[in-house]
Amino acid sequence: MSAPVVTRFAPSPTGYLHIGGARTALFNWLYARGRGGRFLLRIEDTDRARSTPEASEAILKGLTWLGLDWDGEPVSQAARAERHAEVAHQMLASGHAYKCFATQEEIEAFREAAREEGRSTLFRSPWRDADPATHPDAPFAIRVKAPQEGETVIRDQVQGDVRIRNDQLDDMIVLRSDGTPVYMLAVVVDDHDMGVTHVIRGDDHLNNAARQMLVYRAMGWDLPVFAHIPLIHGPDGKKLSKRHGALGVEEYQRMGYPAAAMRNYLARLGWSHGNDEFFTDDQAKEWFDIAGIGKSPARLDFKKLDHLTGQHMSAGDDAALLHELEGYLAATGADALSETRRAALLRAMPLVKDKARGFGQLLEKAHFILTDRPVVPDEKAQAALDNVSRGILRELTPRLQNASWEREFLEDVVSEIAQAHGLGLGKLAQPLRAALAGRTTSPSVFDMMLLLGREETLGRLQDAVIREG
Ligand code: GLU
Repeated sequence: MSAPVVTRFAPSPTGYLHIGGARTALFNWLYARGRGGRFLLRIEDTDRARSTPEASEAILKGLTWLGLDWDGEPVSQAARAERHAEVAHQMLASGHAYKCFATQEEIEAFREAAREEGRSTLFRSPWRDADPATHPDAPFAIRVKAPQEGETVIRDQVQGDVRIRNDQLDDMIVLRSDGTPVYMLAVVVDDHDMGVTHVIRGDDHLNNAARQMLVYRAMGWDLPVFAHIPLIHGPDGKKLSKRHGALGVEEYQRMGYPAAAMRNYLARLGWSHGNDEFFTDDQAKEWFDIAGIGKSPARLDFKKLDHLTGQHMSAGDDAALLHELEGYLAATGADALSETRRAALLRAMPLVKDKARGFGQLLEKAHFILTDRPVVPDEKAQAALDNVSRGILRELTPRLQNASWEREFLEDVVSEIAQAHGLGLGKLAQPLRAALAGRTTSPSVFDMMLLLGREETLGRLQDAVIREG
């Protein structure tokens, strides 16, 4: 039986959770969740100058909004510095690392001379093979003994075998002379201690993998499976920047995208399963595999995201959508819904969610249910309520008073009036919609009438008829 899968997301808390990070997190989450594995979170906060608690907070919030739940408590890398140092000393004790007493000046002088002589400027420490008896009583860094011949092969599940000549690798410092561990050591020790079996991350870390492998080898630890995924590009094929929408995920929440559509969309950014575009979380978990990750950078495509959003809205559970919509309102600083409006919106949800390309559009369609009498028409609706139209609506009102409040009867009444005026149903629907919703886009007039009920419908028509045009 193979070991259970453990993946992790290891963001550096120096800013918000951007879309590339969110996708990396999603891939790791899907991989673990689809295999009954664990998905862990590690905050790589060793760069004290650049890491902030606010950024950590924003990242956790972003992941939570996206619906990517992690197992256990997030691990702070900085809090594990002692353990990292301990491992460096173990490497020293086992002879896989050595004390290097070279000063910064000596390293600089080495490089300078190498440059002048046209040699590689990679530092070769004279202490690598020095007799410990010759060691001075001075501060030292711990360097790993890297192989100097042959090559290191990263068996990457996305990129294939990536070969790096060992003469390109220096004896990396693992513990600085002030006793602080380097990032490259911390990552490996943490991944090992957390039992990470699969490292899925951006291919900007591919070169790091070769150096990290030195630590795994020195400690005799099993390598995880590496999968370095191509970064996301903008629609123009260029490296992603803010201009393209390299925004924090919370911006996507504020733009009104539902998390399910985001997950679906992000999963498709660089991964595919046949021609499937729209899928559920369960399908994604079942289908997601490293083999389906492409080798070339995916391009951000808002049209696709909008389209998937419409599909996820239509398929979404009414109560869950309402709940998410309330999150959207809070995120955009809008007023919360009153109990009455909540209930009304829930009833209207089947009508208004259909193909809505975001919560903004859903709210626009739901305007009729979220507004009180007298309904104030917007400019276009006002134009639809000209004198002739209002005259027709005036005629319609008493007929509706007596109609049985069921779709077929309502349709009959409205059709008859339209016919009497030589109008198509569509022509009459327009002012009717304007009167009921104050908008020119809304669910169908009959759906609205049924939902609003007789009294409210008649009241709104009355208001429109008497309003000065
Ligand atoms: N902290 C690194 C980053 O935010 C990720 C390191 C890793 O995944 O190994 O880019």
